[in-house]
Amino acid sequence: MTPTVARPYQIARSEALFGDAQQHLPGGVNSPVRAFRGVEGTPVFIERGAGCRMWDVDGNEYVDYVGSWGPLIAGHAHPEVVEAVRRAAGRGTSYGAPTEAEVRLAAMVKEAVPSIELVRFVNSGTEATMSALRVARGVTGREMIVKFDGGYHGHADGLLVQAGSGPLTLGAPDSPGVPAAAAAQTLSLAFNDLPAVGAAFERHGGGIAAVIVEPVAGNMGVVPPATGFLEGLRQLCTRHGALLIFDEVMTGFRVARGGAQARYGVTPDITCLGKIVGGGLPVGAYGGRRDVMEYVAPLGPVYQAGTLSGNPLAMAAGIATLELIRRPGAYEQLEEVSSRLERGMARGAHEAGVAYSTNRVGSMLTGFFAGGPVTDYASARSADRRRYGRFFHAMLERGVYLAPSQFEAAFISLAHTPADIDYTVAAAGAAFRALVEA
Ligand SMILES: *Cc1c(COP(=O)(O)O)cnc(C)c1O
Repeated sequence: MTPTVARPYQIARSEALFGDAQQHLPGGVNSPVRAFRGVEGTPVFIERGAGCRMWDVDGNEYVDYVGSWGPLIAGHAHPEVVEAVRRAAGRGTSYGAPTEAEVRLAAMVKEAVPSIELVRFVNSGTEATMSALRVARGVTGREMIVKFDGGYHGHADGLLVQAGSGPLTLGAPDSPGVPAAAAAQTLSLAFNDLPAVGAAFERHGGGIAAVIVEPVAGNMGVVPPATGFLEGLRQLCTRHGALLIFDEVMTGFRVARGGAQARYGVTPDITCLGKIVGGGLPVGAYGGRRDVMEYVAPLGPVYQAGTLSGNPLAMAAGIATLELIRRPGAYEQLEEVSSRLERGMARGAHEAGVAYSTNRVGSMLTGFFAGGPVTDYASARSADRRRYGRFFHAMLERGVYLAPSQFEAAFISLAHTPADIDYTVAAAGAAFRALVEA
């Protein structure tokens, strides 16, 4: 059960590979947070994964709480997912023509998320949110978008305004290269601050096409919606003729099978999906009310297309994964194992006398090195990221792979057992103590 890690911990091959990688890839990576800049140090290069475990190129074994940043709710290399992809690959990897798998996955998505009457598959969460906003603007004939500070909706121009996740860690929420005109159409407000949204509608009501929100924020670390926040957004959007977009790229199939909208009982007009819906292959999706989605080409005038959209391998992985989470008891198991982790981590921090505040919704969890509750971007940013960095490395050396940034969620999968959690909690206890002894 104890992950096998070299003593003393060493990652010589990862270090060599990272040196090479920097000759070829910007920062050595294809997505910024992977470079470990949020925690300093060298990223470990992964060779393989199985269940909740990953192995790096130096042979170190880790209990993985990143899960490819959310998609792997069934764990790494689940045999049923692997077999589905293998079978699909044997029949050809892409046709650029309709397939039965697209219809099947679409029906499964609609069954799980009933507010979706029509759905369009794309290749990433970024594409999903970008396209959803285009539809919202096309439907309403308005241009402004309301988002929330610390909310991350992918890297489309108009959404890189006070964005969380990577931009938050790097301290560059407003990226060069984003046209001022694109950012000017985006109003970013404090998460959980309903009066601010009401005031924005009073001021700009006739110009706001949509409110886009992570219904459980996950990209500034996990921050649950305050009571009444999502309901209030729904009412304001309806009253002012704007569309409510739930970006459930992270929360979809994660905080409940029907996503946050099922968990909180609030129905958006458009839902964005990604991550789990692709079972670890590149998939995003956006869907919603039929009259809204009828604006999408070829039914309607809003153009959006994709050479590899609905890719047969990706559809196969999505179908296999959604089959696995449909099994009775799946979400009860996730809840039980996740609350065991939350309680254990909180206890470890408390016993070591470390200021630590946990936020958890289902199998998404962030422990903030903060003295008080974290309810929005401002309080998230008060967390001690240097301390998180030291904790992160102490965990890595003990064979636990957490996100290399304070402002990310830990994801628990169906492959994490109570014994894996107990090992993690024991490692965390030692890592918390090491923080105060140092
Ligand atoms: C990950 C994420 C995205 C972006 O998805 P990509 O597939 O990385 O483009 C968008 N929104 C949310 C809420 C996410 O967590």
